[in-house]
Amino acid sequence: MSTQAQSETEFEEPPGQPEERAAQSEGPAAQAGERAAQSEGPAAQAGEWAERPEELDDQPEELDEETRARRDAALRRVRKLGDPVLRTSAVAVERFDESLQAEVELMGRLMEDALGVGLAATQIGVLHRVLVYKAYADDQITTLVNPVLEWASEEREAAEEGCLSIPGVHVEVERAARVRVRALDPHGKELVVEAEGLPARVIQHEMDHLEGVLILDRISREARREAMRALREAREAAPV
Ligand SMILES: [Zn+2]
Repeated sequence: MSTQAQSETEFEEPPGQPEERAAQSEGPAAQAGERAAQSEGPAAQAGEWAERPEELDDQPEELDEETRARRDAALRRVRKLGDPVLRTSAVAVERFDESLQAEVELMGRLMEDALGVGLAATQIGVLHRVLVYKAYADDQITTLVNPVLEWASEEREAAEEGCLSIPGVHVEVERAARVRVRALDPHGKELVVEAEGLPARVIQHEMDHLEGVLILDRISREARREAMRALREAREAAPV
């Protein structure tokens, strides 16, 4: 994307003064940012998505020690904002061999361990056009290899998203309400996925990753400033 270089510079840590001004701001955006940064609930810790309280109902208030340890281990393997690989376009998969199966399995495991609902290969440093997602707890993991957006509805919806690569940040992102995607499965078989609601959102989020696009690119400059502040606070609270 042509705006990428410009966006990237905006992600740099702003100097102290503007940050203080932002912190003192009394506007609703600033308050929303504070809420996001201070949130300690399981939703805020759920990684790739924080906006699915209904899916989190079955999770305990506090993660048990083993779940937390597994999640932390998985998150350590996920590339974080600032890693150039997250800004790189992935390359189409040509070989549907054992190493691809292994890669897909690893991605599914890391996504589940990290309590995320989607993961793109670029997020673990692999420049393959591969993504996995599982929007709801009872769903199977779906793997899309070389996904192509065939159709997107004109109707758009805004909802809060998080990203395993940008811990502590949750922002409202507008996306097509429904999509149809053509892709291959890990064995090279063609599949067409029609999705709406959360799965449609996850697919679009992960396909963005394959182009080096992050949620921070899909929000206003003001929202991005708030997000960066939440990110800094999250990093200070729990350095990765
Ligand atoms: Zn993400």
